[in-house]
Amino acid sequence: MRDLPPISQSAEHFQRLGLHEEEETPTEPNGRLKSSSGTSSLPCSIYFPPTGSPTVPPRRNHAGLDPQFLPLRKQIVSQVSLESPLSPASLPRSPWGRPDPYDSPEDQDKEYVGFATLPNQVHRKTVKKGFTFTVMVAGESGLGKSTLINSLFLTDLYKERKVPNAEERIGQTVDIVKHMIGIEEKGIKLRLTIIDTPGFGDAVNNIKSWKHIEDYIDQQFEQFFRDESGLNRKNIQDNRVHCLLYFVSPFGHGLRPLDVECMKALHEKVNIIPLLAKADSLTQAEILKKKMKIREDIRQFGVNIYQFPDCDSDEDEDLKTQEQFLKDSIPFAVIGSNIQVESKGRKFRGRSYPWGVVEVENPVHSDFLLLRNMLVRTHMQDLKDVTREIHYENYRAQCIQNMTRMMVLERKRSDALSSACGYEADFPLPLAVVDTEKERQIFEKDEELRKMQEVLERIQEQIQQGQ
Ligand code: GDP
Repeated sequence: MRDLPPISQSAEHFQRLGLHEEEETPTEPNGRLKSSSGTSSLPCSIYFPPTGSPTVPPRRNHAGLDPQFLPLRKQIVSQVSLESPLSPASLPRSPWGRPDPYDSPEDQDKEYVGFATLPNQVHRKTVKKGFTFTVMVAGESGLGKSTLINSLFLTDLYKERKVPNAEERIGQTVDIVKHMIGIEEKGIKLRLTIIDTPGFGDAVNNIKSWKHIEDYIDQQFEQFFRDESGLNRKNIQDNRVHCLLYFVSPFGHGLRPLDVECMKALHEKVNIIPLLAKADSLTQAEILKKKMKIREDIRQFGVNIYQFPDCDSDEDEDLKTQEQFLKDSIPFAVIGSNIQVESKGRKFRGRSYPWGVVEVENPVHSDFLLLRNMLVRTHMQDLKDVTREIHYENYRAQCIQNMTRMMVLERKRSDALSSACGYEADFPLPLAVVDTEKERQIFEKDEELRKMQEVLERIQEQIQQGQ
C-alpha cells in the first residue's frame, strides 16, 4: 500500500494524525470524484475505484484540520479540485511533482486499475534513495584532467594536490585517489565519485602502468559480488566504475602505444570515453584530423570504447540526429578552466589569451558541453546499465566459473579420498558444469593424470612386493 497513488496515503496520513472524517465525497459509478456542481466530465488528478473496492477505500473529506496541516491540505485539495484549468502547467501534480497519468479528459469515462502511476512510484523511490555515479580519469599528467573535472562538476577537488617533480616521477607508480562529492540539484541527490590516477604514464618505464587501474576496477567488482552474495544485500554501496574518461594528448599523431595497450587492458571492464585534451591548442582543421586519426586507431587496434545505444527506428528524427552527432564527435575535443573570464560584458569559464578568449561551454570552441550533457543529462543511466549488465556480468560469470571449477576439483579429490577410505562425502557439492571446451580438456587431463598416478602406485606396490 505504500506506493498507492498519493491521495490514499494522505488519507492514511490524516488518520494517523488523529484527524476525523466527516462527510463522504460523492463519487461517480466509475469511482471518480464528482464535482461540487455535479459535473463529472472534468479532469481530476486522482482516480478512486468504485465504492467498496478492496484496493482503495472510498475517498472522504477531512474537516477540522489543524492549521499546521493546512498547507498539506491545500496541496491535496488542489489535486482533486475539479475546477482546475487544463493547461499542462496547471495540471494537478502528485506530491513528488510528477503529472498524474489519469488527468486527461478522455480518461473520465473509463475505469482504471491504476497501474499507470507505476512510473511515478518508481520515480519517487529512486529520488528518495538518491543516485550514485563513479567516473575515473586517466591520461598522462598535465593533460588537464583535474581542470576538466572541476569544470565539469563546478567543484574544486584538487586544492591540496601536490604535483611531483621530474625526479620523483622517474620510478613513480600509479596512485589511485578517490574524491567524493555530494551534489544536489532541484531536490535530486547525486553522490559523485571521481577516481583519479596520478602518475599514469609518467614513469620512464610505463609497462603495465595500467595494472593499478585494472586492479582497482576489479576490486570494486569483487566487493560488489561479495556484498551481493552476503546477508545484508539491502544497503550495498555501489562503487563500481561507470566510466573512464581517457585523455589523449593533442600533441601526438593519434593514439600512443601506451594508450592502445591501456585501453585494451580495460575495455572489457569499463566504459571508455576517449577525450582529445586541450583542444584550444589545435586549429579547427587539426581537431577534425586528429579526431579522425584517433577513431581510425581505435578501429585498427580493436579497442572497444563505449558505444552509444542505437536509436529505435520509431524514435524522433531530432533525437536520431543528435545521437548520430554524438557518435561522430568521438573523441570529444575538450577545454577546461578553473577561472571565470570577462569579455564583452559577460562572465564565463574560459581561458584568456593575448589574441582572444576561449569559452569552455561554447559549442563552437569545444565539445565540453556535449560531453557534460552526455555524461550527466542523457547517458548516465546507460553508462550504469552497461556497467551492470555487461562489464559486471562478465566479471561475475568468470567468478562463478572459477568457483565451480574449484568446487568440482574439490569434489573429485574428496571422491577419491572417500573411495580410498571407504566413506562417502556427507556434504553436497554442486554438479560439475562442463560448458566450455577448455574446461572439458582440463577435466580430461585431470582424469589422465589420476589414472597415471594409479598405474604408478600399482607399479610401486608390485616392485615393493617383488623385493
Ligand atoms: P592534470 O595533471 O592532467 O590533472 O592537468 P591539470 O588539470 O593540472 O592541468 C595542467 C596544466 O594545463 C595547468 O596549467 C592547466 O591550467 C592547463 N590546462 C588545463 N586544461 C587546459 C586546457 O583545456 N587548455 C589549455 N591550453 N591548458 C589547460
